[in-house]
Amino acid sequence: MLKANPNYLNLRGSYLFSTIGKKVAAYTQANPDKQIIRLGIGDVTQPLTPTIIKALHDAVDEQAHAETFRGYTPDLGYDFLRNAIVKNDYEARGCEVYADEVFVSDGAKSDSGNIQEIFAPECRIAVCDPVYPVYVDTNVMAGRTGEFIEAKGQWSNVIYMPCTAATGFAPELPAEVPDIIYLCFPNNPTGSTVTKSELQKWVDYANEKHSVIIYDAAYEAYISEDDVPHSIYECEGARTCAIEIHSFSKNAGFTGVRLGYTVVPKDLKDVDGNSIRDLWARRHGTKFNGAPYIIQRAGEAVYSEAGQKEIKGLVSYYMENAKMIREGLAAAGYTVSGGVNAPYIWLKTPDKMTSWEFFDYLLENVNIVGTPGSGFGPSGEGYFRLTAFGTHENTKAAIERFKNL
Ligand SMILES: *Cc1c(COP(=O)(O)O)cnc(C)c1O
Repeated sequence: MLKANPNYLNLRGSYLFSTIGKKVAAYTQANPDKQIIRLGIGDVTQPLTPTIIKALHDAVDEQAHAETFRGYTPDLGYDFLRNAIVKNDYEARGCEVYADEVFVSDGAKSDSGNIQEIFAPECRIAVCDPVYPVYVDTNVMAGRTGEFIEAKGQWSNVIYMPCTAATGFAPELPAEVPDIIYLCFPNNPTGSTVTKSELQKWVDYANEKHSVIIYDAAYEAYISEDDVPHSIYECEGARTCAIEIHSFSKNAGFTGVRLGYTVVPKDLKDVDGNSIRDLWARRHGTKFNGAPYIIQRAGEAVYSEAGQKEIKGLVSYYMENAKMIREGLAAAGYTVSGGVNAPYIWLKTPDKMTSWEFFDYLLENVNIVGTPGSGFGPSGEGYFRLTAFGTHENTKAAIERFKNL
């Protein structure tokens, strides 16, 4: 008889953004004349840049001729893209990463969700709290849960590392030793970062405990401060303990185009000496048939001189919004952080409102949609995330509405 995967039945609640979507849909249906400003979901609004569009067109045209037509792509990615990644994202920063350690994919969400498959089911994970929900849910789907602790509302094999105002929204080394540590800096949702020396402590800890760090660098392009590392491989010893995940979504606006990559160094081994890189290659080759050729050409164009210039323009466009939100809300009396090295502003809800109370309050009174902090984990309660991915016009209008609250 058919039975659903019991691990999936262990998932708690619905995906955060579906809940928000439903609430907003209900509100707009009841109030069709209201102009909603969406600063909730982290999706870009600016179009692809000319260099990317040209690369896409050229690659499409190649498909019309037998000599240049491409079928299945290599499952780990084309060399032209993997070499460009190594040269620009690593060699240029003095990091040791080789092309055969770069796995091209359709984006960071799938990679950050899938990578856990190559680790044992009994591995314990540690996540920042608040957390990008994908890390926890995909581990629950894989049965990496242990016992459910009613009092905490948490699984015993998932260690939440509180990121609070007291620590600048960065985690502290956990007392219970995890096998897999998820870190994301610049952080979604808080916009926080760690310095290179702080990150070095995590690398040293992981090497000492023989844990792996899964480092999500989706917002690397937004770093504006000098002492914030762009890659975990800037830290000494990271090749034996860290996997790094990148996306073309937030820097180049590929949220709908789909492209990302993951680095798994050959020096990363499990306790019995098994190569993690080889397992990921095996998994990738079995379950994934490669990112589209056309899209990989667009990714290559991101690294061209013109591409880099255009992408800097996109990032500064959004960071102008971030500044507007950060300064506007601070002037209106809110306690805000983030928005300096990341397109997210993390604000404390006023008057001790819960995150969802503030969500409803904003939606009903000023028709602004944001994301309740509690949706990202218990330490997010009493906080709220706004994104800088809107247009200048909408962002400005949103700040005006906040001032009139
Ligand atoms: C947006 C985001 C991703 C997803 O990126 P895609 O490449 O579009 O799948 C991954 N990690 C974090 C933390 C993100 O915010």
